Amino acid sequence: MANLELFSIKKTWFKGNLHTHTTISDGKLEPAEVVKLYKKLGYDFLALTDHEIFSWWQEFNTPDFLILPGIETSGRALGPYQCHHVVGVGDSKVKPNHLERFDNQGLTGLSGAQTMVDFLTDQGYLTIYCHPVWSRQTFENVADLQGFTAIEVYNHGCHVENCTGEATYYWDGFLRQGNRIWGVATDDSHQQTEDYGGGWVAVNAPSLSAEHIVEGLLKGQFYSSNGPTIEAYGVCDGQAYVRCSEAQAIHFIAFERRGKTFVASPGQPLTQAVHTLHGDEEYVRIEVVDERGRVAWSNPIFF
Ligand SMILES: [Zn+2]
Ligand SMILES: [Zn+2]
Repeated sequence: MANLELFSIKKTWFKGNLHTHTTISDGKLEPAEVVKLYKKLGYDFLALTDHEIFSWWQEFNTPDFLILPGIETSGRALGPYQCHHVVGVGDSKVKPNHLERFDNQGLTGLSGAQTMVDFLTDQGYLTIYCHPVWSRQTFENVADLQGFTAIEVYNHGCHVENCTGEATYYWDGFLRQGNRIWGVATDDSHQQTEDYGGGWVAVNAPSLSAEHIVEGLLKGQFYSSNGPTIEAYGVCDGQAYVRCSEAQAIHFIAFERRGKTFVASPGQPLTQAVHTLHGDEEYVRIEVVDERGRVAWSNPIFF
């Protein structure tokens, strides 16, 4: 088993939100106000992903704050509640023009979701399958989706709205059947409630450019969080390891062989953990849980 340091100390961690709405669709704040909000929260980058509208608000780019082109596409609902939403996030190579509409006519069911993924990929976007619990999808309903980049393991807006934001069950479902996809935490902020600053990704990249951030996202060189931070994780001498902020528990989630959980002793929070691998794991991923139950999710390490 090769040693694998997934993050370079020569690179920097950049914090960003990949899923946000504005008054261009159903958000409460204007794009400029949303940008101001995330700058104030200390974010480095933001994708504005309004429903069925391609946008790239380049005028808000500054040397220390990056706007990525984005969109959230939706298929037609199959009933009163069931739907599929796919977010696209890109760099300067994306094709549709700013404020062009996405035509979702006739996109229904999983084939509609697949059409959205394929179309966005073709236009130069990485794709995120959004909030499956909120969309009232079982894993079996979505299991055949192919070619997408990531799934929302945590959507803060859905969590705040009605506790439908968590989806690690779906992530492991895809991973266990061999889909090598990443997990992302997002806000999906509409600013109607306190739905911002609760789910983010931290990307390990050489600079804050759209190309470097998107490359880091495509390669899985990031982790997701709604609280804790991860400093490093990887594999060294047959052991998976993580270094992190103070944690109550650290889980190594493996497949098909089972992984391992470490729990802090009273008054002695964990800041690192090591798990000896057996060599027949298909993947291992790490969850760091703090004293308030908030989680940081590493991406899976595949073998
Ligand atoms: Zn959505
Ligand atoms: Zn959304």
